[in-house]
Amino acid sequence: MKNLKLAAGRADFSRSVIDVSGVKIGGEFVVIAGPCSVESEEQTVRTAIAVKKAGAKMLRGGAFKPRTSPYAFQGLGLKGLKILDKARKETGLPIVTEVVDTRDVSWVGEYADVLQIGARNMQNFSLLREVGKSGKPILLKRGMYSTLEEWLNCAEYILAEGNPNVLLCERGIRTFETYTRNTLDLSMIPAVRKESHLPIFIDPSHGTGILSMIEPMSLAALVAGVDGLEIEVHIDPSCALSDKDQQLSPAQFERLMKKLEATRLFMLELDDKIDSGEMAPTEAKDRGAGGRQGSFPEDAGRGGRKDRMVDDSSGGAAPDRSEIGHFKDSVD
Ligand code: PEP
Ligand code: MN
Repeated sequence: MKNLKLAAGRADFSRSVIDVSGVKIGGEFVVIAGPCSVESEEQTVRTAIAVKKAGAKMLRGGAFKPRTSPYAFQGLGLKGLKILDKARKETGLPIVTEVVDTRDVSWVGEYADVLQIGARNMQNFSLLREVGKSGKPILLKRGMYSTLEEWLNCAEYILAEGNPNVLLCERGIRTFETYTRNTLDLSMIPAVRKESHLPIFIDPSHGTGILSMIEPMSLAALVAGVDGLEIEVHIDPSCALSDKDQQLSPAQFERLMKKLEATRLFMLELDDKIDSGEMAPTEAKDRGAGGRQGSFPEDAGRGGRKDRMVDDSSGGAAPDRSEIGHFKDSVD
């Protein structure tokens, strides 16, 4: 893809692993969960304890909320960050929280383990430069009107400041469809894996805005090769001050986590069966298996799905990038 120097896929197909307090983003399947907004200490700490128990590896929560209406709840600001700090101390979960203003980056960074750039700020270039300078891990959401190429160029802004710690998060785009809050573009999972070495996350909460769609979209994302999910969970969703219709209860989240783990293990077993030839020849042939290639063409030579299990098994020939790339050059 034109103009990408640092965000583009590497010649050896290796992918970035970002270490956030021992959580290996890009190296293991990671679920980030927590409330849309930090509302109170009790709500945040109780939610943090519940998501940790269910298997989440990181806690999310907004202290600065970019809202459509200036009269809607805007977040607790510094007080919210202090609550997140308390929740981290209680659970050990690293914190993901949004920063919306260049002037806030350094002090918000003192509380956050990962700074989130929201969809509405994806192309706020001065903010991107500032978080680039901070050196903190950055979760960069896709803008709701942005192409993959624009999104990766925004990652490039951060990387160009000398900060290699960028993870991407697809959160749905605006299309003519109004049934869902946004149209969750799961095709970005293989697209990012093909075009970039950066980890790719999916946010099914903002991506659909519909509670019953969070589980199927999460499972689909996992099967499609996602590195992780960002999911909104609230201790009492009906009382939430923002996004109350899309936040899972702890019980719903626990059930989802069980299904995700079962699916992850099933997919690994499937790869093993194909690789070992245990699968009936016709089934293996139908799936185009041959050699240890995993389920993704671009994984050839990297041990497939197991590259996310920190497994260094390898084999198979790496395809020529020109053969698998299908993106047109951009017009500046
Ligand atoms: C959020 O994750 O809190 C959020 C506001 O998401 P987005 O920027 O994707 O709308
Ligand atoms: Mn939200």
